[in-house]
Amino acid sequence: MKYFFETYGCQMNTAESAALELVIRERGWTEAASGEDADLALLNTCAVRATAEQRVMGRLAHYTALKKKRLAEGRPLILIVTGCMAERLGEKLKGSVPAVDQVMGTAARQTFPLILEAVEQGRPVPALTDNETKPVFSFSSSHLEPGQFRSFIPIMNGCNNFCSYCIVPYVRGREVSRDPAAILKEIRLVAEKGVREITLLGQNVNSYHWQGAGDVPGAIDFPALLEMVAAAVENTPIRWVRFLSSHPKDLSQKAIRVMAEHRVFARHIHLCVQHGSDRILKAMNRRYTSAEYLELAATLRTAMPGLTLSTDILVGFPGETGEDFEAIITLMEKAKFLYAYMYHYNPREGTAAYDLPDRVSEAVKLERLERVIALQQKHTGELLKTRVGSREMVLVEGISRKNADELVCRTERDEMAVFPGKASLIGSFAEITLSSLRGNTFRGKNLED
Ligand code: SF4
Repeated sequence: MKYFFETYGCQMNTAESAALELVIRERGWTEAASGEDADLALLNTCAVRATAEQRVMGRLAHYTALKKKRLAEGRPLILIVTGCMAERLGEKLKGSVPAVDQVMGTAARQTFPLILEAVEQGRPVPALTDNETKPVFSFSSSHLEPGQFRSFIPIMNGCNNFCSYCIVPYVRGREVSRDPAAILKEIRLVAEKGVREITLLGQNVNSYHWQGAGDVPGAIDFPALLEMVAAAVENTPIRWVRFLSSHPKDLSQKAIRVMAEHRVFARHIHLCVQHGSDRILKAMNRRYTSAEYLELAATLRTAMPGLTLSTDILVGFPGETGEDFEAIITLMEKAKFLYAYMYHYNPREGTAAYDLPDRVSEAVKLERLERVIALQQKHTGELLKTRVGSREMVLVEGISRKNADELVCRTERDEMAVFPGKASLIGSFAEITLSSLRGNTFRGKNLED
């Protein structure tokens, strides 16, 4: 039997799709080239922004038409929706899109084999009992494709922060930390398979906390976990360890010390700031001020010279005045991010900010967004220019889409480069000179040539 998955949203969803793939492959299923050839299509969805949900609704309209066609041909197609949007809308989704056979929330992974069993036996997809959908999150090992050199390792799930604009705590639930013994086992497994870079994943990795049980009876916090990870990757092919996402209020001095002490932690960190106005940060329930954020950025850069920072910026939050907006510009000028994901605020039903008054008009939101994008482009260009001429270790990711004789690679600071080279280098490290810059991509020269 054949399956086809579509995955939207964050790296956490990518990791979870990989875990579901492991389950389905273990049952002998193979991957279809598209939904047209599949017996089961699964959409792993994102609910963070309204646009992400609209995209999924578009895909569901496509699958509704496809299911009709397939039914007429006598080849039924089963349609499963999972992920945060499934969690947010639950059974309502089935009501609005009857072609959906099952809505499987983020906490209901253990139900997947029951669905597969029914499809394999040609039975209708079972209705799930409360017991089968109860929110017990279980982490599974990542599925590795042959030759895969990068792996995402989930370490925690959920979030307790309730930033007022964010739907995540409602759809992912409260924080659950994964057993450190299982994390280390998975890291050793991917290292044995030749993985070169790992990223520890969670909605708020810095608040990782293992209470102590099983093979690791003592309490383990995030810095302690980082120490354990650093020890586990020693003498393995893994040379870079990253983590995502970090909340500035939870990134401790102890964690920074551990990162600085172990060279395996890549000199780049994604540290979401969201805004530069303390008044708006308070309304967002972020629980830090812009001064505290900048102090943290300075501490990181002092501890790890050369470290790059990237961030998320949200403009047009309800009540944002021109003065508040200028505070974002001021913060960006001081923080100098390598890159930023920049958005304008869209109300999400069910979040605390949904009912806030003084919504900013669409026109003003767009105008402000354009300004931050232009400023970020300027900063990115300025930072990259200072790096021309330097020597860098890069991880080779693949062949350039623009030139088949060139390889695409990334530095540990998360900068992109291309250099002439053979495909056999994909998945390995190379030392290159960053000779020049075109747009935001370096042209490089392999020092071994
Ligand atoms: S830290 Fe805030 S923005 Fe991030 S997932 Fe948690 S609630 Fe959402």
